[in-house]
Amino acid sequence: MIYSVIVDVSNSNVDKIFDYKSDIDYQLGQRVEEDFAHRVTEGFIVDKKSHTDYPLDKVKTIICAKDEFSAISLEMLQLAKYMQSKYHLRFIDVLRLFVPAEMRGNRVSILTKKQASINHDSNLSVQQMLNSLKSNAQKQRQLLTFLSQNGATLCEQLNAQFGNAAVNALHTKGYLRFDMVTVQRTPYKTLAKSHRQPHVLSAAQQQVVDQVMANPTASFLLHGVTGSGKTEVYMNIIQQTVDAGKTCIMLVPEISLTPNVLAQFRNRFGDVVAMIHSGLSAGERYDEWLRLKNGDAKIVVGARSAIFAPLTNVGAIIIDEEHDASYVSDFNPRYNTVDVAQFRQQYNGSLLLLGSATPSLESFYKAQQGEYKLLRLPERINQRPLPTVEIADMAHEVRQGNRTIFSQTLKDRLSQTIKSGNQAILFLNRRGYSSFMMCTKCGYVARCTDCDVALTYHREDNELKCHYCKKRFHVLTHCPECHSQSFRQGKIGTQQIVQLLEQLYPGVKVLRMDADTTQNKEGHVKILSAFAAQEAQILVGTQMIAKGHDFPHVTLVGILDGDQSLYYSDYLSAERTFQLLTQVAGRSGRDKDAGRVVLQTYTPKHYCLQLASRQDYLGFYRKEIALRKASKFPPFAAIVRVLYQGENEQSCIDLVTKHFAEIDKIKQTNPDAFFYLDKMRCPLKRAERKFRFQIMIKLEIDTAEDIIQQIYATTDAHKHKDVQVFVELNPQNLS
Ligand code: ADP
Ligand code: ZN
Ligand code: ZN
Repeated sequence: MIYSVIVDVSNSNVDKIFDYKSDIDYQLGQRVEEDFAHRVTEGFIVDKKSHTDYPLDKVKTIICAKDEFSAISLEMLQLAKYMQSKYHLRFIDVLRLFVPAEMRGNRVSILTKKQASINHDSNLSVQQMLNSLKSNAQKQRQLLTFLSQNGATLCEQLNAQFGNAAVNALHTKGYLRFDMVTVQRTPYKTLAKSHRQPHVLSAAQQQVVDQVMANPTASFLLHGVTGSGKTEVYMNIIQQTVDAGKTCIMLVPEISLTPNVLAQFRNRFGDVVAMIHSGLSAGERYDEWLRLKNGDAKIVVGARSAIFAPLTNVGAIIIDEEHDASYVSDFNPRYNTVDVAQFRQQYNGSLLLLGSATPSLESFYKAQQGEYKLLRLPERINQRPLPTVEIADMAHEVRQGNRTIFSQTLKDRLSQTIKSGNQAILFLNRRGYSSFMMCTKCGYVARCTDCDVALTYHREDNELKCHYCKKRFHVLTHCPECHSQSFRQGKIGTQQIVQLLEQLYPGVKVLRMDADTTQNKEGHVKILSAFAAQEAQILVGTQMIAKGHDFPHVTLVGILDGDQSLYYSDYLSAERTFQLLTQVAGRSGRDKDAGRVVLQTYTPKHYCLQLASRQDYLGFYRKEIALRKASKFPPFAAIVRVLYQGENEQSCIDLVTKHFAEIDKIKQTNPDAFFYLDKMRCPLKRAERKFRFQIMIKLEIDTAEDIIQQIYATTDAHKHKDVQVFVELNPQNLS
């Protein structure tokens, strides 16, 4: 038999697929070892055939299989082909998404441990063994009794409990036998048991569930306000789907993968849940993947990459917070999770449910067009009111002589909250102590030498860090431009806010959650658990605290810089700001006590802030969709960005110029298809030593697909070995 094998090598711009032979019957998608360029290399079988165009004696033989099973199912092979052509990706890069990185290159394997049990082949009863022991062999006696009562036990536990000497002595006597057994690494051992019982669904929740289950192969968009009980709806649908013998994929944004959410699913579904997210160790990730692959786990809960879970017979795919930007991968391989979900939905004949309090404009538009069935949960559970939002005009505060970051309104509300024994969340759009270090005389700002970004000052380490490439620098003592020694630290950050709070409210415990405090594994789990256990009254944080969390005692949310993200210049900034504000506000007043929100801003009249303060999604949708239609932005157009990155600036410029001329030719022959075409440097001009350029294209929606294929062909026809080229469709991040 002849097999086409795709070789798993990374230092290549093109896929390497070669013919190999073997008498053994391998499966499509199976991982194998083969000789490639005189080295034993891993690969995947992508095709089987009876004939090869190469002389048979030149065709090498596959060395062996890497696993007994085929790591990539037929469904996933087809998905890979779909993604390859839709996003113009290397096939091998897509396949790599489908198996845990740790599995390739033998970096993890099944974990085995030594286990001891009573050796029944010794023909002695436990009593006879006990009788034979010396009277002072207390530990051995206890150990034998323990094993006769508890059965086989891991040696590490026995050693700790009875001592190695006792374990080894009994083994030497032939009373114990040792076996190697497979053990599961269970992620989140620290996960607290949540004590919540399944709720009886409200009438509104029940109606949503019934509508979905009545049509279990359709696509739905669930627009449910914050606190409307969407999670309970998801769990109910998952339960029914699993009961019907099918499997489920439940996606949430990485940062909402909180202990709370995980515990809820664990408690409800027990061991049939597998979890996949960035906090897992290599071994844990591998074990969870295997449990899904071999059918021990039937539900996966995870971030974006869990859409590739090796499940068969998928019955439901649920994407929570579907508007979240993290569902669009913005590094190689670039893909949009919803597209992948739709492929798997069609392949399996499953249902697809997208849920959000602030659906993306595109999804809501699709629901309006009938592409998704629209479901609504317009009220919070038990008719709890949505929080009252007060807008604090910071320009007015400055005129009143208040130059601090806290408005008078926020200070008043904070005092009340603290006095009442409730909790508050303060939200800031940035991270770090201050965003930059600036010379007060000439305005020089310290920047990273490899990236075109200002460095951030970190007080704990007294150094400057690049948040892009993670490089570290000494703080400035003299300005390199004018030699002045006086510096101002730019804007305020989470760390400084914690300090200010500790001065304002002595004795009140404050926690901080941002990318710096959550770098180590399970870091954010610890902070959130502490806050949930009311170990602190105030939580200060960035984007990470915006979503998903359900803290019943939080009655105040302060948004310190509400307009921050409005200043970004891309078409998504109003939508992003509206979503963020609504989500943050939604953390307040989720239990018995009514919630408040203080929204601080310098632009209190902006429609986006006004509508967000009323939590008026429909009002915002109508306004924004009209703007998009008039100015021709998605969903009324397709945005394509061709991104170039390379260390040699001139090679980049040459390639951009060449591609631009070719794309301009496509435009000449299809003048109606293009709304916009231009080339430029990226807003982030340099990153990790590489210069960055882009060609920006806006396409008429109906012909976009055809034009995009022509653009792919152009970028394929002209390549430069030192310049990376990526084509992005409707990118969420335009830095
Ligand atoms: P959402 O995801 O829509 O923001 P959640 O699913 O977090 O909302 O639910 C909000 C709160 O309401 C949670 O504390 C949840 O336990 C509770 N809840 C959900 N459904 C019910 C119900 N049927 N009866 C009582 N409480 C419920
Ligand atoms: Zn200076
Ligand atoms: Zn850098």
